[in-house]
Amino acid sequence: MPYSGREIHLAARPKGEPQLTDFRLVEADVADPQDGEIVVRNLVMSVDPYMRGRMNDAKSYVPPFKLDEALGGGAVGEVVASRAEGFAEGDVVLHDRGWREYAKVPAQYAVKVDTQLAPASRYLGVLGMPGLTAYVGLLDVAGLRDGDVVFVSGAAGAVGSIVGQIAKLRGHTVIGSAGSPEKVAHLKDDLGFDAAFDYHDGHPVKLLREAAPDGIDVYFDNVGGDHLEAAIDSAKNGARFALCGAISAYNATEPPPGPRNMFLCVGKRLRLQGFIVSDHFDRQPAFVEEVGAWLRDGKIVARETVVEGGVEAAPQAFIDLLRGANTGKMVVQIAS
Ligand code: NDP
Repeated sequence: MPYSGREIHLAARPKGEPQLTDFRLVEADVADPQDGEIVVRNLVMSVDPYMRGRMNDAKSYVPPFKLDEALGGGAVGEVVASRAEGFAEGDVVLHDRGWREYAKVPAQYAVKVDTQLAPASRYLGVLGMPGLTAYVGLLDVAGLRDGDVVFVSGAAGAVGSIVGQIAKLRGHTVIGSAGSPEKVAHLKDDLGFDAAFDYHDGHPVKLLREAAPDGIDVYFDNVGGDHLEAAIDSAKNGARFALCGAISAYNATEPPPGPRNMFLCVGKRLRLQGFIVSDHFDRQPAFVEEVGAWLRDGKIVARETVVEGGVEAAPQAFIDLLRGANTGKMVVQIAS
């Protein structure tokens, strides 16, 4: 086997919060590429909240990860061998076989990226899946309109931080919630949010009423639970909610209590719409043009939490992501 590297397997399905023992570091060989394939040496990989759902043996919009196989997810790496038209050794590509040092990738699942324009990690964050999620969720799903007051939860994370900044760049009043005083300061001082609160300081219903005394028109939901309840409480008539995620429940071992005020959705004529970013890849060109230009012009802050230590650091990074250790996009540096 020409390539030998390490990869992370799912050793057990986590119960509640994932533990290091749910993961296993394995030496693996990667054979030469067949026709239409490339072999990639991964440089940087993503850890994302959705991976927690894929660790459960449950029906969802993506299949569960298999036990005793390498996990997967976004990664950027350098092509070291190619038998695919359009890909040459030295090209840098974005693909979906993270959690390993070497990956054999069918070329149709790889996209070349330009690391002269932006560092590799940006294609996993602001210029990648989380950025597109923010863009379509806010503009298309919530249908952002002039004058909207926007509330976003998980606001200091990969998706939330871009939601808030896009709304600010379009001239909106933006309120965010996050899990520490440092993150709240980051939202207000670095990202230009109009108001922000730490959800540990009280019930989000009360905190959002104080932060948005005149109510909200748009809610971008990354958290669910008590945050969704707060947004329903503070919603103006006809407000639109983009339901992106519900991270407060991802490690739950019992069904979490739902918002207790759902009936307000009727009288307030609210629209709550869930979405999955992969249904919206047609928006990629518009997203890259608009957000790429803002990034180039220095109008968007793309904070990252980069975990060093190679692929073996990925399980702890993933556990820490779910605990809120990241500000902005969290990635694991596999090689340089
Ligand atoms: P983040 O970068 O926001 O990281 C996760 C964050 O969640 C942590 O930093 C932590 O921040 C916060 N968090 C953890 N537990 C709780 C809790 N109990 N209550 C409130 N906040 C909590 O991740 P992403 O930006 O990648 O993802 C954000 C959301 O978007 C997730 O729900 C994810 O599943 C969803 N998503 C959905 C997509 C779709 O297609 N629908 C695509 C991509 C993401 P803090 O310190 O503030 O608590």
